[in-house]
Parts: sequence; structure tokens; C-alpha cells
Amino acid sequence: MRPIIHMILHFVLPAAIAKGYYPRTFLRAWLIMMATMLIDLDHLLADPIYDPARCSIGFHPLHHYSVILVYALAAAWSKTRLIGIGLLIHVFLDGIDCLWMNYEV
Ligand SMILES: [Zn+2]
Repeated sequence: MRPIIHMILHFVLPAAIAKGYYPRTFLRAWLIMMATMLIDLDHLLADPIYDPARCSIGFHPLHHYSVILVYALAAAWSKTRLIGIGLLIHVFLDGIDCLWMNYEV
């Protein structure tokens, strides 16, 4: 159930942000934030590519703490704000997933 809820949140949370903060350009804002899911391509470098019991934060190169700082900087600059917000939402949700997997029985 956890992976399904996690995936749904990857679509719903950016939609909620786009609806709340970019109502006139909702679709554009949501699509830009959806495009940031491409950072999951770094999973292709791992073996196995997908491991439901692995925390992606700090493991995959584009989910590393140092690049999360770059995402925060991107969110602070108006021209890259949506990309930065999308990336921060992504790593935030992945982080929540890491916490959740530790408390799962
Ligand atoms: Zn991810």
C-alpha cells in the first residue's frame, strides 16, 4: 500500500501546489513539476534498480543531500522556481517514504 500512496502523492501534491499558487497557469506549473520526476532516472545506476526497502535519500546521486541544497537554491530563484519546488516536493515525499518504511511492520 505504501508505494501506491507514495506514487499518488507524487502527482497530487504538485497539483495542489499548482492549484493554490499558479491557478491561472495550473497545467503548465503542474507539468513542469511533474517533469522533475526525471531525477528518478538516477535509480538506473543502482543495482537493483528498484528496491522497496531502500531509502533513496542520500543513496542515489540526484537524491543526495548536497544536490537537495541546489534544489533549494533553484526554488529561491524566480526563473527556476517551479523546477526547484518540484524537486523539493519530490525529495520531501521520498524522505517521508523513508520514514514510513522504518515504521512499517
Ligand atoms: Zn525519487
